[in-house]
Amino acid sequence: MKITFLGTGKGGYPTLTRNCSAIMLECGDGIYLLDAGAPVLDLMTRLEVPFEKVKGVFITHMHGDHTAGLPAFLTACSWHYTDCSFDVFLTEERGIAAFREVVLAMDKVFHEDRIRLKKAEPGVLYRDENVTVTAIPTAHCQPYPSYAYVFEGEGKRVIFSGDLRRPDAPDFPVIALEEPSDAFICELCHFTTDHIFPIIEKCPAKQVFFNHVGGRVVEETLAAVEEFAKTAPMKVIAPDDGDSYTI
Ligand SMILES: [Zn+2]
Ligand SMILES: [Zn+2]
Repeated sequence: MKITFLGTGKGGYPTLTRNCSAIMLECGDGIYLLDAGAPVLDLMTRLEVPFEKVKGVFITHMHGDHTAGLPAFLTACSWHYTDCSFDVFLTEERGIAAFREVVLAMDKVFHEDRIRLKKAEPGVLYRDENVTVTAIPTAHCQPYPSYAYVFEGEGKRVIFSGDLRRPDAPDFPVIALEEPSDAFICELCHFTTDHIFPIIEKCPAKQVFFNHVGGRVVEETLAAVEEFAKTAPMKVIAPDDGDSYTI
């Protein structure tokens, strides 16, 4: 399984070095997107991603830094990349209605037989010949839904925290603490490094990737991650945009 960090930035805005949230997983012959912050279409295009291999898009919650790349992505896959056929899981019905409307407003036609907008629900959400994806509710934008996602495929398990609730992450996905994983991708935006590191130390993960890093304290945060990595019981990395890892 290969993980490519397309956008590792924090909050509702990109910085010079970090785009908004988007991660690409490659497993078997499929490509899966975890969040679709802007400019996800452009970033995938520059990597020469074969769009016809995209099988699923999994949005953790509706905040713009995780979804604003969708209009360009959906219109390109509906109108131009006619071999595309995949599911897009959004967390709210009104998000489905809004993205349908924005594609229709731009293109006048939306090929929903191929690009299927669906509402994410807790539990096993998606399964194909490559992966099983499970959605775990978090409390990030209560009372609106948000999810962590677990990807299992090729004998590997990847847990993605999505965004959690500030300030003390009471919705930290229990599975990350209780079940082994090959990679745990944890956001690093809604709590301090001092708070999250002791929790991370207890996770039976082979590797931890911190993403959603940025803003005014990015240098401080990255320095803290580097320090933590020296003593952590697993491999700890804060990837830059464009970094890829095979697990
Ligand atoms: Zn966010
Ligand atoms: Zn958010």
